[in-house]
Amino acid sequence: MPVKGWIEVDELYCKGCELCVNACPPKVIGLDMKHLTSKGYHPAQLTGDGCTGCAVCAVVCPEAAIMVYRETAKVLHPV
Ligand code: SF4
Ligand code: SF4
Repeated sequence: MPVKGWIEVDELYCKGCELCVNACPPKVIGLDMKHLTSKGYHPAQLTGDGCTGCAVCAVVCPEAAIMVYRETAKVLHPV
């Protein structure tokens, strides 16, 4: 099963530069064009399924605004 991940973008720091949008391999980040941050930027957000938790977005973000989470697989041991 593919690893599932998700991100949280801290709006306080996101400046809508789109570096994460362009870097995301499965292309599941976009800017929220319906919303402006308190600083006047359209913030990045997850736009669909398919995030793998690869953290490329967090690495390229110059503002360190992205927190990446990754689902861990449950290992079932025989009894
Ligand atoms: S963790 Fe990877 S797949 Fe998920 S949004 Fe960031 S770059 Fe895209
Ligand atoms: S790279 Fe960082 S600052 Fe730029 S849009 Fe993405 S989250 Fe916002």
